[in-house]
Amino acid sequence: MERVLSGTRPTDRLHLGNLLGAIENWKILEGQIGKVFDECFFMIADWHALTSEYENPQALKNNIREVAIDYLSSGLDPNKSTLFIQSHVKEHAELHLLLSMLTPLAWLERNPTYKEQLQEIKEKDLKTYGFLGYPVLQASDILAYKATRVPVGLDQLPHLELAREMVRRFNFIYKKEVFPEPQSALTKTPKVLGMDGRKMSKSYGNAIYLSDTGEVLKKKVMNTLTDPARVTRKDKGHPEICTIYSYHEIFSPAETQTVAHECREALRGCTDCKMHLFGNMKSRLAPIHEKRAELEKNPRHLSEVLETGTQKARKFAQDTLTEVRDVMGL
Ligand code: SF4
Repeated sequence: MERVLSGTRPTDRLHLGNLLGAIENWKILEGQIGKVFDECFFMIADWHALTSEYENPQALKNNIREVAIDYLSSGLDPNKSTLFIQSHVKEHAELHLLLSMLTPLAWLERNPTYKEQLQEIKEKDLKTYGFLGYPVLQASDILAYKATRVPVGLDQLPHLELAREMVRRFNFIYKKEVFPEPQSALTKTPKVLGMDGRKMSKSYGNAIYLSDTGEVLKKKVMNTLTDPARVTRKDKGHPEICTIYSYHEIFSPAETQTVAHECREALRGCTDCKMHLFGNMKSRLAPIHEKRAELEKNPRHLSEVLETGTQKARKFAQDTLTEVRDVMGL
């Protein structure tokens, strides 16, 4: 039996890219509990959020709550998966410290994600010990539960390889197979574009959030980029370069051929096409919006779910730490 661990940084609410790229996959893994997996741990990685947001912690508490609501309203089942807040299980921090004793600095410095982000993110001071050590904290998250499967995107693969290197080094130094080597659970994920045609990302300000409803959602759909060649209703379009069409592929799968044909032949206008999409998007997201409204009315339930998850997670992590302290002479 295998264990799964994954999480999200609560730097904002979750958007469609997070739903389709991560949560939908987590739900598939959750559905295999008892068959392939014996446990699924999904955390809200607030310490990871602080590695880049340490200067602006004001929004963190609210974002943690929003992400918890997003998890539950998107259909993760707290009776099956363990949902918890990373910083409430202090064992992650202890394991981070202990693993950092044996992690060569060069492993972290050569990490491609680290180098890339230092280059790209100029508005924040990321030349910190915490940011450099991000992969050690990530390895601690995984290893505290002896998780064997980690659903990650391609950009996270180098971090997972680092976690495996740490496992090999730890088991070699202490001559005991304390940790299993975690493997990736790469799953097919649709590339979700943002309203401006770039990858959907909170940092680009182009995201459609799961919590966007009614007029907010409609306005975002109406402001989304289309084929610039369609200046007038009579101009023929190219759906393959239209962001609205890419959303139709997700939200109107049975109608994409009609949409593409009518676009190419100028038989539909972009405003009608957007309204068509908005209708389908609204229906698909309706259960999420309904569940969110219920959860917002019942904060106590939300706290109970997180507290129960945290207690369960802590128990697993405590057992692992007992073993780790023992082999490390503590
Ligand atoms: S008709 Fe639809 S698919 Fe074609 S360019 Fe306009 S919005 Fe895009």
